[in-house]
Amino acid sequence: MIQEPLAPPPLIANAARVLIADDDATMSSFCARALSAGGYTVVTVGEAEAAIAALQTQGPFDLLLADIKMPGRSGLELAQIAREIDPAIAVVIMTGHSTVDTLHASVRRGVTDYLTKPFEVDELRLVVEQALHKRGLLQQSLRLRALEELLRSSEAINAILDRNELAREIIAHARAHAPGEAGFLFVAGADHLPPQVFAEPSGATIQPAGREAVAQSLRIGRPLPVASAEPLALLEATPLTHGLAVPLRARGETIGALLLCGAHDEFNAPGASEFLALLANQAGNALRNAQLYSQLDAAYNSLRELDRLKSEFIAIASHELRSPLSIVLGYAKMVHDRSSGDLREYAQRLLTGAERIKAIVNDLLHLRDFDRKQTTLTLERSALDALARQAVERLVPAAQQKGQDLSVAQPDQPVILEVDREKVLLVIGNLIDNAIKFTPPGGRIQVEVVRWPHEHLIAEIARAVANPTMRRLTEGAPATWALVRVKDTGIGIPREHQGRIFERFYQVASSLTREQGGAGLGLAIVCDLVALQGGVVWVKSEEGRGSIFNFALPLP
Ligand code: ADP
Repeated sequence: MIQEPLAPPPLIANAARVLIADDDATMSSFCARALSAGGYTVVTVGEAEAAIAALQTQGPFDLLLADIKMPGRSGLELAQIAREIDPAIAVVIMTGHSTVDTLHASVRRGVTDYLTKPFEVDELRLVVEQALHKRGLLQQSLRLRALEELLRSSEAINAILDRNELAREIIAHARAHAPGEAGFLFVAGADHLPPQVFAEPSGATIQPAGREAVAQSLRIGRPLPVASAEPLALLEATPLTHGLAVPLRARGETIGALLLCGAHDEFNAPGASEFLALLANQAGNALRNAQLYSQLDAAYNSLRELDRLKSEFIAIASHELRSPLSIVLGYAKMVHDRSSGDLREYAQRLLTGAERIKAIVNDLLHLRDFDRKQTTLTLERSALDALARQAVERLVPAAQQKGQDLSVAQPDQPVILEVDREKVLLVIGNLIDNAIKFTPPGGRIQVEVVRWPHEHLIAEIARAVANPTMRRLTEGAPATWALVRVKDTGIGIPREHQGRIFERFYQVASSLTREQGGAGLGLAIVCDLVALQGGVVWVKSEEGRGSIFNFALPLP
């Protein structure tokens, strides 16, 4: 006996939408009233075909309540079609009597539950409620699956840095997980790159209505399903009149849009637009990264070109200056030796100036040889402390001239190793020369030579600003190092410059504006010559207090 619902039960908070399909008008209206009173929104139809039409045009519905026996298609067939239209819909089948066979068929067709007639209001509500609960779980699992797909897609597209390849992949991933026969990716122009439209498959062409749909989705800033009288796109000759436009955003900026087009209204299926919106986010970021990468690549290439020009300049300048310079030096020396009085003094000045140019030309020649990998080492067993002493002795007069105290500390035992003596003298000489240049009169410059265990070196270098020689430390480092320190009480170097002073031509203050001359090549040569002998260079410095330049060579 069917009971009419009397007093409405407490209202259910959600307004789930239920489609009732039953040819029995009394039954249909009983269910409709019972469910409406329970807070549901209900649409009733009298047969399966009408139900399919309602699913397509009035959807999405949360639940389909269908009688198993209807004219035309059965409730079970309808259940299957409903599931195809909307994979997440809950389906409850009403039967006159349930048999094991019906139950099996129901499960196969994705029916969530069934109700055996006659049933009471409470029973109906309970079954509907439970079916909706199961639907929630199903939706969650569909969402999880979509997220897994998204993760896979996002990993795939984030690994691509080429803009064209990336665009094709984004469309391919969108089409693999969402409806539509054709996909378009609109990418806004950035810097040197023009705006572009990518299409997949290649036979698809975008139409004015498609561009308008994209523009509109960009204006409103969210996914926009469209059904248009005009075709959004053509696939060969087939007009595609339905679609979904999704804006692509990266770091708060709109950088393009994705448009999927199809011949049918299939873009409202739950999950599809959600998936596309998430994919669009990933795609936006991937595109942005690709743009940044291409900018970085361009900047890197122009830096490389600059580096090449510097090397070329060094090679040309050193070559072209060498011959005229030897003529100037030769004749100046001759005049100097053969003259007296004022003329001899003038010739001496000429000689001093020419010697300074020669020092710069020699620096350029060192760098040129280094670039051409033509620097050769003449290794000899030598006492590093004796070399340090020799370098100090050469420069004591220059230090004294500035009123500086230049001294060298002796180690307990000689520090013997195989080195190229001339090149080590040049390295220590360059460091002392800088110390003299950048220390005011009255300052102190100390040179010391010590043996150092590898751990000490690592600990100290860890605090220093990195420079190119430091990669040495990871390549078969020795247990003990021979360390040379040149300490001064000079002007020091701001930390932000410490990593760069080893670059060619780099100077903290340009020699055009400072008192001390120099071309910014000394430390670059130090770096190259020390690295060539398997060593490392680093600096510890404090602005206004002084610097300690260190280099370490591996001890056998
Ligand atoms: P140059 O001395 O010819 O300018 P270097 O390559 O020898 O070139 O040194 C690069 C820069 O590093 C110098 O211009 C200077 O700014 C800084 N520098 C080097 N040694 C010292 C030092 N002992 N004290 C302070 N600054 C130094």
